[in-house]
Amino acid sequence: MKSLVLERKDELSLRDVPEIDREEAALGPRDVRIKLHTVGICGSDVHYYTHGKIGQFEVKAPMILGHEASGTVIETGGEVQHLKVGDRVCMEPGIPDPNSKATRLGMYNVDPAVRFWATPPVHGILRPTCVHPAAFTFKLPDNVSFAEAAMVEPLAVGVHAATKARVRPGDIAVVLGAGPIGLVTALSALAAGCARVYVTDLAEKKLEIAASLSRAIVPVHAGKANLAEKVHAETEGWGADIVFEATGSPKAAAGVFEALAPGGCVVMIGGQPDPIQYDAGAAMVREARVENIFRYAHVFPRCVAMLASGAIDVKPLITRTFDFDESVRAFEIAASAPPADVKMQIELPQ
Ligand SMILES: [Zn+2]
Repeated sequence: MKSLVLERKDELSLRDVPEIDREEAALGPRDVRIKLHTVGICGSDVHYYTHGKIGQFEVKAPMILGHEASGTVIETGGEVQHLKVGDRVCMEPGIPDPNSKATRLGMYNVDPAVRFWATPPVHGILRPTCVHPAAFTFKLPDNVSFAEAAMVEPLAVGVHAATKARVRPGDIAVVLGAGPIGLVTALSALAAGCARVYVTDLAEKKLEIAASLSRAIVPVHAGKANLAEKVHAETEGWGADIVFEATGSPKAAAGVFEALAPGGCVVMIGGQPDPIQYDAGAAMVREARVENIFRYAHVFPRCVAMLASGAIDVKPLITRTFDFDESVRAFEIAASAPPADVKMQIELPQ
């Protein structure tokens, strides 16, 4: 059973990982065993590959990458009720301590004890099978493909961000960044009721993809146009009700209130490994509400429901698919940050 292993910074290999086979030999009563089908390559996987760490999380031992996944149930624990062998599923990668205070308060994503796939020292799922709690495994309707289902994990971030923003029908939003997270956020904001979403980026091709998603998306080239001026000009000088920061760039964060309307809301999504500055005065005169999100909680079923109904279509975001044997090359390509790609996925042999 070969897995895609990040041996150390800049070094990947496809090899057996006997320890994981041993660890997962037995199935707990509330667990399911899943044969993986499709795994998305996330910016975080690539960052561990190219930098060896993200903030406080450092790769100190070989780690299997991957956390955006779909597959098929091949075995169920004795107490599992809602899943059976043969079910197609997607999986939520973060498992909290069920007894922790954060979990009991309903915000298990900020449980300090959460174990999240491919966040050191926890192995990810670029491997043939995995064992996972049934409670964090979600059955797919027939009309949701494995590829779409592997997009549920990043989509969950967008849905959580739109939820935190408390979108009201007709709101005008801005999304800074047209990467996978920026685009799922734009789709989530529209699904939540936004009338119009401005999406900015420096990559022409990403903006083209953004514009193709909906006629309510307005692409804005961050290097050629002044976003705040454009938004103000098109909102009678008022500004956007919501600004989603999805670049993780300190520069974008510094100007995050510029396009915001009085009383508006900024949602900080992009990971900022180092302390950043933003304009507190600009926030103050607007009485801006600032929300921060860390992954998501309780949104996978909503994401699956929206993919099934067609309320959200993530298919245009999947720009390349690789076979599992090619996964080292796939990561090399992803690490070069090709401007025309949004989401690359890897398919495991079935
Ligand atoms: Zn991800």
